[in-house]
Amino acid sequence: MRNVKRLIFRIASDLSLVACVALIILWGRSTQHRDEYRFTRHGRVFALASVDGRVVIDNWPQIIEFGERKQRQEVRLLGPRVGGSYDVPRQNLGRLSALGARKPPPLTSNTLFFYWIGVVITAILPALRFVRRFRRELQVYRQYRPAARLRCWKCGYDLTGNTSGTCPECGAPIPK
Ligand SMILES: [Zn+2]
Repeated sequence: MRNVKRLIFRIASDLSLVACVALIILWGRSTQHRDEYRFTRHGRVFALASVDGRVVIDNWPQIIEFGERKQRQEVRLLGPRVGGSYDVPRQNLGRLSALGARKPPPLTSNTLFFYWIGVVITAILPALRFVRRFRRELQVYRQYRPAARLRCWKCGYDLTGNTSGTCPECGAPIPK
C-alpha cells in the first residue's frame, strides 16, 4: 500500500514537473508572441490567447476585422486615384465621413489565468519530492559518515588505531 502511494506520488510529481516546465516555456513565449485560437460566438469573434504572461479571452480579432472592413470600404468610397489624389465621387462624401466617425468595438479582455500561478502550483509536488529526497540523502550521509578522528587532547596527534593508552608523541594519557 505504501509502495503504491509512493508510486502515485512519483508519477504525479513527474507530470507536475512536465506541466511546470511547459508553463514556464509558454510564459516566456507569451512575453514575445501572441498565440491565439479564434472562435465565433453569437456572431462575435473571440480569441483564446496567450499573451503578456496570461491566458485571456478577448475580442481582439473582432477589432482587427472591424479595422480591415473599414479600410476596404474606405478604398471603395474614395474612387479612382488620379495623379497624387483621389477623385472622390460627390455622392460618396457623406458616406465617407460617416465611415470615418464609426468607432471600433471596445476591447473586452478576460484573464483566465496567470502563468506564474500555474507555475507555483505545479512546482509544489516536485519541490516536496526534492525535499524528501534531500532529507533521505542527508540521513544516509549521517549514517555512513566516518567517525570523527581521535586526536590527542594535548598535542593534537592523530591517535587512530592507538591502543597503548598514552600519546606516542607527547606521552599524555588518553582518556577512555
Ligand atoms: Zn600528544
